[in-house]
Amino acid sequence: MPTVCLSFDFDAISVWIGTFGVSTPQFVSRGEYGANVATPRILDLLEREGVQATWYIPGLDVDTYPEICKRIRDAGHEIGHHGYAHEGPTSLSEQAERDVLERGLDALDRVLGVRPAGYRSPAFDLSPNSTRLLAEYGFSYDSSMMAHDFQFYRCRTGDVVHSDRAVEFGPEVDLVEAPVTWTLDDFPFTEMVLTPQVFIPASTDVEGLAQRWLSDLDFMVEVEPDGVFTQTFHPQSIGRAARLRILERIIRRAKDHGATFSTVGAAVDTWKATH
Ligand SMILES: [Zn+2]
Repeated sequence: MPTVCLSFDFDAISVWIGTFGVSTPQFVSRGEYGANVATPRILDLLEREGVQATWYIPGLDVDTYPEICKRIRDAGHEIGHHGYAHEGPTSLSEQAERDVLERGLDALDRVLGVRPAGYRSPAFDLSPNSTRLLAEYGFSYDSSMMAHDFQFYRCRTGDVVHSDRAVEFGPEVDLVEAPVTWTLDDFPFTEMVLTPQVFIPASTDVEGLAQRWLSDLDFMVEVEPDGVFTQTFHPQSIGRAARLRILERIIRRAKDHGATFSTVGAAVDTWKATH
C-alpha cells in the first residue's frame, strides 16, 4: 500500500536570515505571513482531511512563534529539527554543527517539550560529519538526501569523494534516510527571491506544477506501490492564497489511490520493523 508523508518546513523568518542572508521588512513579512496566515489555513485543511503531517521547525521560529507551533504540536503532528536559524551544515565546523543541533534541540524542548526523532537539513545538504552526529544525538532519521525517490534506506558516514578515482563509500550508521527531492519541493517553483546575491524567478505555471506533482504521485503508485511519497512544503509558499488548492488536490488524489497518510517518523518506525 502506498504511503504519503506530507512535510512542512516551518521556516517562517529563519530561512531568509540563515539561507539568504536578508532580514529586511519584505522578507520578515513573508515569514510572518507563513506563520500567522498560511499555517492556520494548512492546519485547518489537514484537520478537515484527517491527515497527520510532519513539521520541521527551526529553533528561531519556534522562539518567535511559540503559540502557532504549540497548535501544530497539539494537533498531533510530528515535529522535527530544522536547525536554529536555518543554518546549512555544509560549511560548519564539527563544533559549530554540534552547537546548532543543541540550540535547535533546546528550543524545541523549552517551548514545546518535544524531543525530535527526525532532522531535516535547511536547504537539503549535509556536512561530512552530519550523519555521524545525528546518530550520536539519538536521531532516528534524516530527511535531506536523494539516493532514492520513494524508498527509505540507511545512511552512511565517512564517504571519501575523490575527483580522480572512484568514490569510497563509508559504513552504514544507525540512521534511516527518508529521502526528499527538489522536484517535490514547493519553494523553488513558487518563491520569487531577489536579494543582492540571488535571483530566483518563481514559475508562473501553477497548473503545470500541480500536474507534475500529481503525475509523480501516480507514477509511484504504479511503479513503487509500497513506496513512500515524501513531499516538502513551506507554509509561506504552498499556503499563499489559491496555491493551497494544490495541496488539497494532492490529498484527494492520494485518497483516491487508497494511500495511507503518515508522519515521516511513523513511516520510519514501520520501515525499521521490517528492515
Ligand atoms: Zn527550511
